[in-house]
Amino acid sequence: MPIFQAEDLKTKIVQIITATGSSEVEALRVCTNLIHANLKGHDSHGAGMIPRYVESFVEGSLQPNQSVRVKSDLGSLLVLDGQQGFGQVVGEEAMVMGIARAKKLGSCILSLSRAHHLGRIGHFAEMAAADGLVSIHLVNVLSAPVVAVWGGGIGRHGTNPFCIGVPIANRAPFILDFATSRSAQGKMRVAHNVGKSVSPGYLIDQQGLPTTDPGVVVRPDAAGNLGALMPFGEHKGSGLAIACELLGGALTGNGTWKPPKVKKRAIWNGMLSILINPASMSSKEQFDLETNSFIDWVYQSPASEAGVPVMLAGEPEQKMMAQRIKDGIEIDDKTWQDICEAGKKVGVNLNSV
Ligand code: NAD
Repeated sequence: MPIFQAEDLKTKIVQIITATGSSEVEALRVCTNLIHANLKGHDSHGAGMIPRYVESFVEGSLQPNQSVRVKSDLGSLLVLDGQQGFGQVVGEEAMVMGIARAKKLGSCILSLSRAHHLGRIGHFAEMAAADGLVSIHLVNVLSAPVVAVWGGGIGRHGTNPFCIGVPIANRAPFILDFATSRSAQGKMRVAHNVGKSVSPGYLIDQQGLPTTDPGVVVRPDAAGNLGALMPFGEHKGSGLAIACELLGGALTGNGTWKPPKVKKRAIWNGMLSILINPASMSSKEQFDLETNSFIDWVYQSPASEAGVPVMLAGEPEQKMMAQRIKDGIEIDDKTWQDICEAGKKVGVNLNSV
């Protein structure tokens, strides 16, 4: 498996995104975001997404060099259209606007539709937390219905991520960021690429039967059907996934999942974000005191397994990032081959880079 230093990998994939017609600035923003996902341990949302983005560009879905369009602006309610642009770009743009509003007005409800794949949603919560804001994000995913509802035997919606970010004074922020399926779809792609099976309880096949083969949600069968991931947290997680579809999809105007007439490779995300300035709610000092004292209390919790202390959401990503900055990012052979093939489709030969 090739191992890359982050900057080296970024330099390589930037060429592919630039070859889709993106400006250098855009290509750099997209690839910086992808490499950050790799550094934070979420390879499912890192450089391995490049082949999918190229396919989406080639079929005419993903549109380079887009900006958000304001559909409606009511001050603390901002409704934006991502215009099929790179999610890493229109998503950041939307967040910058929402953050400015929340800092000025105390809160902002930010709606973003028709963004191409937004990547790691935690990135947006990190942006808000860096500006001292709490944020909540409900996202729907229109690509393939790879997640079953609780009690269902076939996929009905996407991996619909949910995320909450809370700034904690003098500490790293709390960043809870997950797919509402038992695993992110991209993690199944990574497992499939390296020929690994997954633990029981994650997947059902095209007949609705339990399986450990991640390929059932990566490669369609002869009839063109996929199996499905199970929702996390039984009926509760499934309900949260449906809330993401109703709010991230229906309320934002992104649309909810329904069978497309033509199967495409695009991934459309709708995101409803709620941004709150804690300083506008009550005393900022009190908020900082309460959050810190509770987190002290959490960390004082004895470990259930000797030598494995409790962690807060966001911490595994920080630890992984420190490790991968030092040791590099491992990309499995199949993923690297797919990235090189994607490059060739837009005239970039990575082997000669
Ligand atoms: P995951 O199952 O790895 O869970 C990650 C979350 O759990 C993080 O907040 C992490 O800090 C926390 N966590 C992990 N281990 C912990 C521990 N031991 N103690 C405390 N907290 C811990 O994540 P996932 O479901 O595989 O999702 C991965 C990424 O995929 C997310 O960034 C998500 O936004 C992204 N995603 C994006 C889309 C999209 O369409 N854009 C769709 C689905 C998922």
